[in-house]
Parts: sequence; C-alpha cells; structure tokens
Amino acid sequence: MKIKDLRNNFLNSLSAIYGIEETRSFFYMLSEHIMGLRRVDIAVHLEKKLPEAEMVSFADATDRLKKQEPIQYIIGEANFYGLDFSVNSHVLIPRPETEELVDWIIKNLSTRKEQINILDIGTGSGCIAVSLAKNSPHAKVYALDVSEEAISVAKSNAKKNQVEVTCIQADILKTERLPLDFDVIVSNPPYVRELEKKEMKANVLDNEPALALFVADNDPLIFYKRITELAKRSLTPGGSLYFEINQYLGLETKNMIEASGFESVILRKDIYNNDRMIHA
Ligand code: GLN
Repeated sequence: MKIKDLRNNFLNSLSAIYGIEETRSFFYMLSEHIMGLRRVDIAVHLEKKLPEAEMVSFADATDRLKKQEPIQYIIGEANFYGLDFSVNSHVLIPRPETEELVDWIIKNLSTRKEQINILDIGTGSGCIAVSLAKNSPHAKVYALDVSEEAISVAKSNAKKNQVEVTCIQADILKTERLPLDFDVIVSNPPYVRELEKKEMKANVLDNEPALALFVADNDPLIFYKRITELAKRSLTPGGSLYFEINQYLGLETKNMIEASGFESVILRKDIYNNDRMIHA
C-alpha cells in the first residue's frame, strides 16, 4: 500500500470518532513514530510503498485508537514543558495544567543561586521532577512514588532528558519522616473524587492508572494533609510547598494548609480559570 492510501484509510476510519483535525494530527504523530517521517516530509513520500512491518504497526495503532486508547500510550511518548517523556499505562499522561505549576516553581526559583533540594511526591512519569531538574541548575531533585512501575518510568525519563533525579519508592501514607530536609516540596497527588468520575472522558477513565487519579470521597484531602504534615517537619526555614489541586476544593485545601501553620498560602487558577495550584 502507498502512504497516500494508508493516509486516506486512516482518516476515513477515525475521523468519525475524533474529527478530521485531531485524526490528521494522530496520523502525523504515528508517521513520525512508525516511519520516522516528519510532517514536512510526508508530502514527498506519498507515492512510496509502505513496508509490511510498518503497515502492521499502523493497523495496530488504528485499532487501539478506535478503542479510545490515548495516542501518548500508543506511541509511548508525551511532551511536557518542551521535553519528551516516555509514558505507559502505569503513569498519568502529563497534563498542561501541571506545566503551569512547573512554570510557577521555575520562575520562583530563578533568582536562587545556592544549591537547593527539591522533592516531587507522586512523581509518576517524572514530568515535574525532570522538568525542574532540567530548568533549575542549582537544584538536586528527588522523586518519590508508591508504584515500582512508575519509578522505573521516572528513572528512564531522567536518563532520556540527561538529568540526575534520585528516585525513591515509598508509600507517603505510611512514611513518618522524609529522608532529608528539602527547600521545595511539590506534589500532584490523586485528587479526583468518585462524584467527579462522570465529568471524565472515557479515554482517561478506561486507560489511565486509577492509582494516580482517584481518592476516596470521604477524605479527598488525605494526601494533601499527609504531605503538609511531612513538609512541616522537613522543609528548611522559608522553604516552599507546591500542590496541584482539585478545582472544587481550592479553598478547603488552602484553609487546611493555613490551619497547619503555613504562611503566604497562594491559590492560583489554571488557563481554564479553575482553582488548580497552591504555593505555601
Ligand atoms: N487533572 C487530572 C485529570 O483531570 C487529575 C490529576 C490528579 O488526580 N492528580 O485527569
């Protein structure tokens, strides 16, 4: 089959589900991943015949897209803060809201000249930890996760992006003390409640790890409370705590952090105008 025909078949079979624009962008992402052809190169290769192995890979990807599997899991990669991250179904696909949190931290750290220690709790793919390490030359970055599989993805992402991140497997709910003192602690823990599941897209619900997303309705701040407690014991004087938060629990989360003794607790909205992050 020629690339031209492959493209037409692909667009025909998926645009009813995803619309033409998104389907076209999936085609270009897969072309690069499977054939190593960049978008700008496709036009001159349209008459080229596709090798059998690549046809099979395309057919497989098309089936997975029909079942609403996220494209990032299919190609095994996602972009975050201008960097490439490997992803699989053990880790959340990095979100643009989280880029805003990372950007906030990097801007706040840009004037620091001394060496600092940063800890990312619930690192998943390592997107926060690795972007901070890449953009804060004076930082020594640690990343913690309960999931062995996530730790292995985070490690490979540190390597992929040529930064040093110390990865620790631990359950934050069972940890009494952090291994050392930190100047910055950041976390994007699970925060989606059962009652919010109906707002979520099927491709998120069916494919992304529940462990990274959901928290019990009866104590949706459980991770925030625990991390705030640990931060109180392990932040250096004047240190910072950053969270990504549930948009419906902005004030509740802020009040809890203030009540536990933190000063200058700032609640910030994301580009969608939802309460999304906190700096204390
Ligand atoms: N923002 C993510 C979502 O809507 C949830 C991230 C999280 O639970 N920490 O899917």
